[in-house]
Formats: sequence, C-alpha cells, structure tokens
Amino acid sequence: MRYDQARWSEADHYEPLLIEKRSETVEIEDSPLPDDLTREQLRMPSPAEPELARHYTRLSQETYGVDSGPVPLGSCTMKYNPSLLEAVAADENAAVHPDRPEESVQGTLEIMATLQDWLGRIGGMDAVTLQPPAGAAGEYTGLLIAKAYHESRGEDRSEVLIPDSAHGTNFASAAMAGFEVVELPSGEDGRVDLNALTAAVGDETAALMLTNPNTLGLFERDIDEIAEIVHDAGGLLYYDGANLNALLGQARPGDMGFDIMHYNVHKTFATPHGGGGPGAGPVGVTADLAPFLPRPHVRESEGEYELYDPERSIGKVHGYQGNWLVLLKAYAYIRRLGDAGLAETSRKAVLNANYLAERIDFEIPYGPFHHEFVASAGDRDAANVAKHMLDRGVHPPTTKWPELVDEALMVEPTEAESKETLELLADAFDAASNADPDTLESSPHRTTARRIDQVEAARSPRLSWRALEDS
Ligand SMILES: *Cc1c(COP(=O)(O)O)cnc(C)c1O
Repeated sequence: MRYDQARWSEADHYEPLLIEKRSETVEIEDSPLPDDLTREQLRMPSPAEPELARHYTRLSQETYGVDSGPVPLGSCTMKYNPSLLEAVAADENAAVHPDRPEESVQGTLEIMATLQDWLGRIGGMDAVTLQPPAGAAGEYTGLLIAKAYHESRGEDRSEVLIPDSAHGTNFASAAMAGFEVVELPSGEDGRVDLNALTAAVGDETAALMLTNPNTLGLFERDIDEIAEIVHDAGGLLYYDGANLNALLGQARPGDMGFDIMHYNVHKTFATPHGGGGPGAGPVGVTADLAPFLPRPHVRESEGEYELYDPERSIGKVHGYQGNWLVLLKAYAYIRRLGDAGLAETSRKAVLNANYLAERIDFEIPYGPFHHEFVASAGDRDAANVAKHMLDRGVHPPTTKWPELVDEALMVEPTEAESKETLELLADAFDAASNADPDTLESSPHRTTARRIDQVEAARSPRLSWRALEDS
C-alpha cells in the first residue's frame, strides 16, 4: 500500500534558537589574541544534551531532503546516496594529513590513482585529474588546459562556442578563463544546428562545449559530424559531464570525439550536493593534453605511487588533491557497483525518466529523451506548479530552464527511485495540473515555510541571528 500523500504535512514546531532557550554569559580571560579583537564577555547557548538532540531533530523535520522523499531536479541529479559511503568517508584511516610523506600514504595514493583510472575508463579519457572541487571548477580547469594546449602550438584562439541550451556555468567558466563566448542557437529539434555550427566555427575557435544527452535529455545524433567540424577547424571538443547518468556503461564521451571532459562526482557518483558542497569535479583529457594537467598528479611507478608535476602543467586549481573524502566516496560507489552495476544504473535512470513522462499530463515538446525530460507547464506558471507539488510532500523539478521550453519543468527522477515513488511524483504532477488558479498561486499550504518572497530573500538576506534581532 502507498502512503497517503494527500494527507502529508510538514512539521511546524516554531522552534526557538538555542540561545533563546537557555544561555549563559562566559567571562573571557587570558586570550592570546590582541585586546581589540577580544570581548570580555560572551553570551553562549547552554543546552543540555537532550535539548540539543531534540532541537536539531525538530529542525530536520521542518526541512526536506532526499532522506524524506524524491528530489527530481533535472540536470542536478539528486540521487539517494547510500550511507555506506558516508561510513567509508568517516573511517579514521581516511583522514590522512595532506602533508604526509608519500611513502606513508601509499594506500591513499593508490585509491586516487585507481579512481583516476576508473573515471578515465568510464569517460574514454586517457588521463584524469581529481583536483577541481566542483563541476564549474572542472570546466574552468578544462578550458585553461585548452588554452595552454593552443598556446603550446603557437595559436591564440579566443572563442568558445556554447549552445543556448547549455548549463549557465559553461558560459561563466569560458568567460572566467578569458574566452569570448559565442552562443549557438539550437535547431528546431532541440539539438545542435549544424549550419549554425559551421557558420560559427573558425580560426578563433578554441573549443566547443557540449553535453550529450543535452539538457533536454536528447542525444546529439550528429556528434561524429560535430566533432569533425570542430576538429577540422583546429578546435577542441569539451564535454560537460556533470551528469553521466544516461551514459554510464553505455557510451563514452572519448569515443564520441571529445578531448576534455569533467565529471560531477557529487551528482553521478553519490555525494549529496546543493547548499554549496563540498563536491569534486575531476577532469579527463586525451593523451595529447595530459602534459597540461594541474600539478601535482598521482601516478604509479614501479609498484610505488608518487606525486609529480606534469611537464607543462597549468598549475594548481585547488589545495592539495582536491576534496579527498568526496573522491573516496566516488571510489567506493564505483567499486561497490562494478561495471555491470554502473550499466544498470544508467538503464534504470533512463527507464524511470521515460516511465514518469508517460504518467504525467504535461506536454513534453522534445524527445526521445534519456535520463531526464523537459515538460512545459503551458499557460500555468512553472513556479506555481512547483510550489503546489511541495504540498504533496515531494520536491519539485527544476523550473524555467532550459529556456527553449515555455514554463519549463525539467525532471530527472534518477535510478534510485522505485516505481511506487515515481507514482507519488506523478500524483503530485497531477495535483498541480488539476489545481485551480487560486490554489496554485497561494501554494504551498502545508510546508513549514509558506510562500516566500524570493526576490526580497535574494536581495536582502538576513544571514545572522544579530541581523534578525536588529530587523
Ligand atoms: C551541475 C551542473 C554543472 C555545474 O556543476 P557544479 O558542481 O554545480 O559547479 C555544469 N553543467 C551541468 C549540465 C550541470 O548540471
């Protein structure tokens, strides 16, 4: 039997701050800091342990996460992350100091080298760096590698081509890496328009950034031709691999002609994300580009693992080896699933997206799609649809992006959800589809925080208790 989602309601405890419940004033004596940086007294919360435990438990009931229900955010891939991986990351042997001598951390380096190798095999890339701490940081790193590569050949190429359906970070990373962005309009079928590409590509083209399946979930069928056009012009092909859920064990960007790619470990390989990280955005490259990878890089040499500086390295993009514990979780996830498990992951992710799409009433203008799809809320406001879905105890999809679809609802259920959960999601879509306009506009009604003034919240956030007290 399914649980009755129509009766769902979020807890509403009106929980005070700890400091408002019970506090004590602490006298500060003998501080080693300069006088003008110290206080003589400090008011501190002083809860007993049960109060503390209950406080945080109650707060956790006033919020929503993938432990409470599905989070079908298209492009973001919010899959359930097995707690086994958290246990691996919390193991005391995982907590090695990054300055320890190489000979004393051979096991850690071996895991890094193995993960580099596995990610390379998954993406069809010859070498992988684990250093970048996010997808966007991976894009930036990859583009610096592209720039260094062109410069090493005496070429100064100033442009990066990006389709209009691409993730916003692509445009930002290209600009940060010092390139001019040339936006490519999508064709009528939602894919790269080959005529537009041929017209835009030239001597100034440093790279084309692409994701495949693209943000509409569509496979770029002309990828061989696209690769040929870009390579013939002397440009490189960059793959935005933030979300590999459709590809794992099925197809590899390297085989499609891509030269550089990043992986979002915190989407595809089981680290929760959102709220700012931490994440990891390893970057894979072909053999020609390997000398430009960030330093230091991990490799095996005569049975020992060592750190070395690649010959023409672009330098460092993050401290030490990146977010090691996040990388360790990716290693454990891949190892636990194996080749067959990874291939099953992508098959199920695609099946789940297609099943859910069949079950909902909203129009889906582009297809056939893979691990995600973009529905249109039509004459309704996609944000209102999303707010109403909250009242059904599920997280709504990504809204209003990509802009190719009117009032877009971008949905990615992921492989982690069961058929029963997909039905709950479908019912939530139905509820929004059948709700009258007044109900839609005033939703949500059953969440702890109701209709939030998003503009005000973004423009004048109150980020501290003092700011709240002063207001
Ligand atoms: C999430 C995402 C990114 C950026 O990844 P971050 O880790 O958030 O920087 C880039 N491209 C696509 C398609 C994404 O979904």
